[in-house]
Amino acid sequence: MDNTMKALPFDFTQYDCRLYPASVNRMDDGGWAFMAEKDGEDLLIVMGSQAGEFKGRSFRNGAFNCVEASLSAANAKTLRKKFPFTAPVPVLRRDRSFGLGDRLGIAGEGHLQAVDEYNAYPVLAQQSIRELDLTHRGYEDVLDAASWAVFRHGYRKGFGADGDHLKKPEEVEYALELGFTMITLDCSEHIRSDVNDMSPEQAADECLLTDELKECYLDQHFDVGEGNVITFDEDSLRRCVLIYSKAVEFVSDIFKKYISGKTDQVDFEVSIDETPTPTLPLQHYFVANELLKRGVKIATLAPRFCGEFQKGVDYIGDVDRFDSEMKVHAAIARHFGYKLSIHSGSDKFSVFSSIGKHTKGRFHVKTAGTSWLVAMQVVAETDPYLYREVHKYALTSFEKAQKYYHVSTDITKIPDVDTMEDKDLPGLFSQNDARQLIHITYGFILSDKDDKGNFLFRDRLYALWHKNKELYVKHLKEHIGRHLELLCEG
Ligand code: ZN
Repeated sequence: MDNTMKALPFDFTQYDCRLYPASVNRMDDGGWAFMAEKDGEDLLIVMGSQAGEFKGRSFRNGAFNCVEASLSAANAKTLRKKFPFTAPVPVLRRDRSFGLGDRLGIAGEGHLQAVDEYNAYPVLAQQSIRELDLTHRGYEDVLDAASWAVFRHGYRKGFGADGDHLKKPEEVEYALELGFTMITLDCSEHIRSDVNDMSPEQAADECLLTDELKECYLDQHFDVGEGNVITFDEDSLRRCVLIYSKAVEFVSDIFKKYISGKTDQVDFEVSIDETPTPTLPLQHYFVANELLKRGVKIATLAPRFCGEFQKGVDYIGDVDRFDSEMKVHAAIARHFGYKLSIHSGSDKFSVFSSIGKHTKGRFHVKTAGTSWLVAMQVVAETDPYLYREVHKYALTSFEKAQKYYHVSTDITKIPDVDTMEDKDLPGLFSQNDARQLIHITYGFILSDKDDKGNFLFRDRLYALWHKNKELYVKHLKEHIGRHLELLCEG
């Protein structure tokens, strides 16, 4: 890379900018492309006969025609064509994959520095429709941010793009059209949550087991390996059918319509995690087996584990029980040939080594909001005045935000920021209630406007993050690194 950079025939004395050395690339016509920061803004500079294919200002440098291209959507599209390593690929089939949602579109560099140190493959573009709505972004924009980050960093090992928690056929279509390489199908609207409260008699009334189901599941021992055996009785089988059969049909329909023809280009994940009731190992087995019977090929499945995986805070629940169930869930996934996917995986430090160990280092873990929290911690560190303002606004938006996220935050436990010293503000990010407050109110903080139609905070926040981008990269690398460290040692 150093040699490529040294060979770059660009005269910087005629053009004042700061080069990103790892972004220097050769074009197939003998031209060059690289990224640089100029007047506080990142740009792409293309030299040679293909420069005109990018939209921007033309200029001459030495013997070359050049174009100074903004990081626009049109230019990102061309970039992905010219440099295929900036386009997403399916990464779930690799052992360790890690979802790194970036709600702000500025976390790519920190994420890449974190995964560089571990043998893990990132899904850099990963947003749910809920996140898109709350941040007023589209998948185009999410993917573009990832492509530019990859090019600037010189990252060539491949990254994924996940249409996360999609619930409707048209959402799946939208993500696929843009070249997303992973679809996470959220089945929560097809999973019944009232079945656990039923008595065996009620369950029997509601579900008549067919002969086919009885023959398939009853009086059998399903050995999923390493001493893990799954058995069903009539009642547990009925409950599986009642809870999951609609979800299974939904997955099967979506798979046949959108995925089956392109399993080499797209990873298909089934998520049954966003429900109030945990997925018992035998229910996991049932879902997997029913999908197999219907010819559905999945890359990952996200069960709802016991205990609670709340956003942005450590695991809440019985760690020993989690460990023993994780062992069986991991064995089932291996048995059927896919990986476990762990959602809301940020900050679950007390269970990462259990996940790493039982999955034998083959896992997918998703994080999203934690990178936003790190960004807000940078605000608390560098501009206490602005932080206090945002924090107080978050308190007023908390109730509305709870409609979107399930958290057990007690905002009365959060210290009053007006009586805190500046230097203590970053410490709020070690307190669960304060973390969750900021975690779930991002949509309001980023999008709300005053009477005149100006953003309340958005512009000031982005200006601050831009000014402190090295600090953000450093914190992000450390924080994401801590996740990977524990997962990989397990
Ligand atoms: Zn989820």
